[in-house]
Amino acid sequence: MTTNVTLVPAYAAPAANAPLERTTVPRRPVGEHDVLIEIKYAGICHSDIHQARDGWGEGIYPMVPGHEIAGVVAEVGPGVTRYTVGDRVGVGCFVDSCRECANCLEGLEQYCTGGSTGTYNALDKNGEPTYGGYSTHVVVDENYTLRIPEGIALDEAAPLLCAGITLYSPLAHWNAGPGKKVAIVGLGGLGHMGVKIAHALGAEVTVLSQSLRKREDGLKLGADHYHATSDPKTFTELAGSFDLIISTVSAPIDFAAYLGLLRTGGALVNVGAPEEPISLNLFPLMMGRKTLAGSAIGGIAETQEMLDFCAEHGLGAEIELIRADQINEAYERVLASDVRYRFVIDTSTI
Ligand code: NAP
Ligand code: ZN
Ligand code: ZN
Repeated sequence: MTTNVTLVPAYAAPAANAPLERTTVPRRPVGEHDVLIEIKYAGICHSDIHQARDGWGEGIYPMVPGHEIAGVVAEVGPGVTRYTVGDRVGVGCFVDSCRECANCLEGLEQYCTGGSTGTYNALDKNGEPTYGGYSTHVVVDENYTLRIPEGIALDEAAPLLCAGITLYSPLAHWNAGPGKKVAIVGLGGLGHMGVKIAHALGAEVTVLSQSLRKREDGLKLGADHYHATSDPKTFTELAGSFDLIISTVSAPIDFAAYLGLLRTGGALVNVGAPEEPISLNLFPLMMGRKTLAGSAIGGIAETQEMLDFCAEHGLGAEIELIRADQINEAYERVLASDVRYRFVIDTSTI
């Protein structure tokens, strides 16, 4: 793999809305600062489905999704200093950024003003398409590679690379902790990590789910309270209660109703990425000096901090391990909110 581009097995969507199928994709030679990662596990994020089905537009096909990658270093470039062969590593949602803008210099590479390079469905600095984790190997710059601490199993670690950091970052930024009431909307891949992390940070955690179907799980994951958003009483009884609400919902929801659940000065942070825009009555935002904000994944240093935090607190994702030939079926189950709580592909089955 040192000199030439190598073709590696992968699962790809050949076109928008086409089922994923086995194929091969090129991986670049291992460069000076690159590591070759033998991928062991890849999580299925709802963002994979949005993109494979072109829900956000401008998809690049064939598309190999997967930005929750966990594996082992198989080879290192001559200039690599952080990793050696055999190290347990992960890759999240981006594999490069400009490294020069104020955000990159501050460790906010996910907000790189020059545009960070997505792990898949993107073009790298040479104009070559990037291919994600539903694959056996990937070549990544060591500076965009994370260390997976001992103490988290690799399959349970994979979803931390997107779902974990996407909740850790806003929970940390908005100071979730002892004395704070935090609500997580949607108990899916992101939401269940939000419950675990917010609980480990010491916050009082409430799940707001469409129904009470997953109540027992939610309480086991660390929630103190669990309410159904299909029950109108939830919005009257809990009015004005939360310091922080994080919505992980993949479809448009009634944000005005959730703003009503915030205490004065509270924040509603959206991390869900619905395919359609929303319209919003702004009065509930003004009445109580409330904040409506968004957040995307996290920077490299913060992602490492999150992995170390999870290892220290014994947190991994709740996963259902699947074979590669079950990916299309898993997509349907995610869309039906029938995931408990992350599908993870065993890449040895590709
Ligand atoms: P997921 O596993 O499908 O979880 C989403 C949850 O939202 C579902 O389990 C369901 O929970 C709830 N939900 C779904 N449809 C709903 C509806 N119509 N009304 C109300 N609730 C609904 O998805 P995920 O992987 O966690 O991702 C969630 C969203 O975040 C996606 O849009 C994804 O693209 C986006 N995302 C954003 C970032 C970021 O950086 N901001 C990172 C990763 C993913 P209940 O059954 O409990 O209601
Ligand atoms: Zn994701
Ligand atoms: Zn930058």
